[in-house]
Amino acid sequence: MKVMKFGGTSVGKPERMHGVAKLITRDNESAIVVLSALSGTTNLLVNISEGLASNERSDARQKIDQLEAQYMQFVEDLLQTDVAKEKAKKYLAEHFEFLNIILKISFSEALNKDILAQGELMSTRLFSVYLEEQGINHVLLPALEFMQIDAYEEPQIGNIKVKLSQLINANSGQTLFITQGYICRNSKGEVDNLKRGGSDYSASLIAAAINASVCEIWTDIDGMHNNDPRVVEKTIPIEQLSFDEAAELAYFGAKILHPASIWPAQHFNIPVKLLNTMDPEARGTIILQEAGSVGIKAMAAKDGIVAIKIKSSRMLLAYGFLRKIFEVFEKYRTSIDMITTSEVAVSLTIDSKQFLPEILKELEAFGSVEIDDNQTIVSIVGNEIAKTPDIMKRLFDSISNIPVRMVSYGGSKHNISLLIPAEYKVQTLQLLNKGVFGL
Ligand code: ADP
Ligand code: ASP
Ligand code: MG
Repeated sequence: MKVMKFGGTSVGKPERMHGVAKLITRDNESAIVVLSALSGTTNLLVNISEGLASNERSDARQKIDQLEAQYMQFVEDLLQTDVAKEKAKKYLAEHFEFLNIILKISFSEALNKDILAQGELMSTRLFSVYLEEQGINHVLLPALEFMQIDAYEEPQIGNIKVKLSQLINANSGQTLFITQGYICRNSKGEVDNLKRGGSDYSASLIAAAINASVCEIWTDIDGMHNNDPRVVEKTIPIEQLSFDEAAELAYFGAKILHPASIWPAQHFNIPVKLLNTMDPEARGTIILQEAGSVGIKAMAAKDGIVAIKIKSSRMLLAYGFLRKIFEVFEKYRTSIDMITTSEVAVSLTIDSKQFLPEILKELEAFGSVEIDDNQTIVSIVGNEIAKTPDIMKRLFDSISNIPVRMVSYGGSKHNISLLIPAEYKVQTLQLLNKGVFGL
């Protein structure tokens, strides 16, 4: 059995959904198909939710009406028969009735999650009606019945496995299952989600849970490119990545994959393929244990980074100093991305400002503390990077005008990270594309 995940743009137009139906019935292997919300829907649901939170109810109502009109038109173009159209509209009416009801009640975080879940619930319902109209036998599996996270927002892979296999076994003889990406239940049993872009994570968790033959991530580009195609003009797809390389790229900003989506596949050794819905014959990228080749493969950038410098001539040389600093971050469940040390100071970066004031306050006990906000990590990823001829020279020559704040190299064999002020991100990625890849 394989997993096939289709992102927002892959289901965002009626003709794209028609194409997805063709792709999932191309071969005889049984499949769990994971769908995102139609592109733009989750953004709009976020806006609606924010409108409710700040009590701008008429604005929220307007957006709900806008979304409803869009979905009613979608149904007209997706389906052919009046029976199917009526059925789809009846389903949609339930979701929009829900959104209209919540306009009248007071906002809460749990309600926010309920609102955000509507996109995937609607896209899978619509797709299921279309498959039915086409006479394609399938089962709609509610993700809320098996996808679960704990109190620390960690997926409960053991529970997911048990519940999912029960659901599959209850439908013996069926070979095609459709389910929602992104949404899950939390430790309180409430509706929750796996964070923005989380459908990739759903797919790889499901692939791990059923020990899938492959986890296919179908999107709007022909695989992982060597650089961010949104800001760099000339980029090329990469044929093969190791799980480690893919995880670094996803974590450090390659939007094509949710940051956490690699570990379940890696842990259970399930190949991941990144494929293009708009060009299904394109080779795409395969992600396996093995890197396939030596040298630099790609780079990505992660925004919203804060650098913190703790300077203490008195304590830095003393053993136990770093542990004390790390304990502060551990206490506030804030992970550290980069770290560099000198004789008298240590600099590190974090990507969450949620507990920054508390962290800074506690760090002041160890020395003087300075922060640089609005930083970006540019991460250069490959296999045995040091074996690329002249790599350091080419890298630093190409960005000689960029004020690099920190460098991290040697933490693993497949990563060099640079910290730069955010305003230099585009320029840095472009310069490195030329200097390192010659593109
Ligand atoms: P989906 O809706 O299918 O999940 P996303 O928009 O989340 O798709 O991810 C695909 C997008 O990721 C591409 O359209 C591309 O703009 C962006 N992207 C960023 N970095 C990369 C990269 N290194 N390789 C490929 N795509 C990337
Ligand atoms: N629909 C969700 C989002 O837009 C999840 C996803 O598409 O992966 O973030
Ligand atoms: Mg995505």
